[in-house]
Amino acid sequence: MEMMASRYAGQPVIVGGGLAGLMTALRLAPQPVILLAKTALGEGVASAWAQGGVAAALGEEDTPDLHAADTLSAGDGLTDAAVAHRIAAAAPSAIAELERYGVVFDRTEEGRFVLGLEAAHARRRIVHVTGDGTGAAIMRALVAAVHAAPSITVVEGLEARRLVIDDRGVSGVLAAGGREACLLPTRRVALATGGVGGLFTHTTNPLGAIGQGLALAARAGAALVDMEFVQFHPTALDVGLDPMPLVSEAVRGEGAVLIDETGTRLMAGQGRAELEPRDVVARAVAAHIAAGHRAFLDAREALGTAFSTRFPAITARCRAAGIDPAIQPIPVRPAAHYHMGGIVVDAAGRTSVEGLWACGEVAASGLHGANRLASNSLLEAVVYAGFVADSLGGVVALPSSPRPTALPPASDAVSLRPLMSEALGVVRDRHGLSPAIERLEPLAFHDGAVADPALVALLVATAALAREESRGGHWRRDFPQRSPVWAQRLVQRVHETGARLVCRAVPLLASSPSVAAGD
Ligand SMILES: Cc1cc2nc3c(=O)[nH]c(=O)nc-3n(C[C@H](O)[C@H](O)[C@H](O)COP(=O)(O)OP(=O)(O)OC[C@H]3O[C@@H](n4cnc5c(N)ncnc54)[C@H](O)[C@@H]3O)c2cc1C
Repeated sequence: MEMMASRYAGQPVIVGGGLAGLMTALRLAPQPVILLAKTALGEGVASAWAQGGVAAALGEEDTPDLHAADTLSAGDGLTDAAVAHRIAAAAPSAIAELERYGVVFDRTEEGRFVLGLEAAHARRRIVHVTGDGTGAAIMRALVAAVHAAPSITVVEGLEARRLVIDDRGVSGVLAAGGREACLLPTRRVALATGGVGGLFTHTTNPLGAIGQGLALAARAGAALVDMEFVQFHPTALDVGLDPMPLVSEAVRGEGAVLIDETGTRLMAGQGRAELEPRDVVARAVAAHIAAGHRAFLDAREALGTAFSTRFPAITARCRAAGIDPAIQPIPVRPAAHYHMGGIVVDAAGRTSVEGLWACGEVAASGLHGANRLASNSLLEAVVYAGFVADSLGGVVALPSSPRPTALPPASDAVSLRPLMSEALGVVRDRHGLSPAIERLEPLAFHDGAVADPALVALLVATAALAREESRGGHWRRDFPQRSPVWAQRLVQRVHETGARLVCRAVPLLASSPSVAAGD
């Protein structure tokens, strides 16, 4: 096993080359830092695929308080109000920061931001780039900034496989590129490894998004929370591709409607119809498909020929599949899209393990609660990257000599995908969850390529079985009501023996890392 060259020893290590990882590295500059990503920077990252944009109260009739109120309402009782207000208040300066890195958001001829509307937002507040090219544009600008920053050592093609822990917390990262193992001695690690969509059969995520950061943190003893809450996007393009291209919520924001093969509206008469929160729309679409129908997003009347100007990237994907959204309804179905749960972090992005921070989708800051408000995740990644950089950058670098650790094999989640989609999809119940847990437990606690994905799946399934109610992204057929008893968060840890999970409910405001650290 190779040890990282001594000149790098002790430098903080950021794991993940998406928006959260890049922003953390940039915000740490000029402090030296190692940025480790399993793919080339900007490739295979959810951040580059974001279409809708970034939420920020920038409109004349908008305020951070209104933004926070919508975030709280989408979170269905489990969002931390202080976090929601703090992030909404930081949003306008996060946009300004991205502009300083060269991101050019769409503006009117008078120079005002063009603001999009998305589901469950009471105001137009989504800033975007070239209509639906937001994530790609942000990543282009930040990748260039990272490559230009002399303080950032970028290591591409290296995958973190284990965190090495001693009695003082993190002591190193065990990583591998192909079969070559490499040990990075460090006492400061930030995980920014993204989501879990790749564990499901139908997903909008890069297929490499299999929750590796969650497994790394869990096996290092960190507390995880809200793991049962997976957001399914109601309108993934249903043309047989894997992963499924997304048809952004912003299309419904512009007035497109959901219909079936007979032209009947799926959401007619339901609250805000197509602009109901994602879980409501996803369940309606899933139920219709389960009943033997198909679902389509019809933008012919709302946008017609304007579709290709407002949504050029979606138009290109539809056309590649032989569909012209100006004159044809777009076939859609729900797909796993975003994971609200993650590693418990405090206001500085610190986890319950000394020397370990987390930000972006892998972290659970308390912002999203049971359901994420559209376009809040890019925002959270930018804002929390700043908090992590401030906290991690202020910690003195101590020496470490990580003990050599056996290299686990590269993860392979393919065999788990049908199980995840059947037991942990849009609708769940005990009959699906209990056998799934029985199958996952032995896989998660034995060596093998499926062990880490199985551990993540087990964390999701265990929390989903424990939460006997329906709330936000978690819908139980056998407990279809939201229960006041369950206005609590489920914190999980891998037990010290390393061979089982401990899952306990904590009151909403008691899931900080210190509280979560105890059993
Ligand atoms: C299609 C799509 C559209 C979306 N649209 C929007 C939107 O409009 N607005 C919004 O706010 N959010 C949107 N989201 C959600 C948002 O894009 C993500 O939540 C966010 O980009 C996550 O950023 P991240 O940096 O945490 O993770 P990612 O961008 O996924 O980056 C994770 C990085 O970690 C690396 N990695 C993972 N494991 C390891 C390992 N073991 N070792 C080394 N590297 C590792 C990956 O290779 C990658 O570089 C969308 C998501 C998708 C999939």
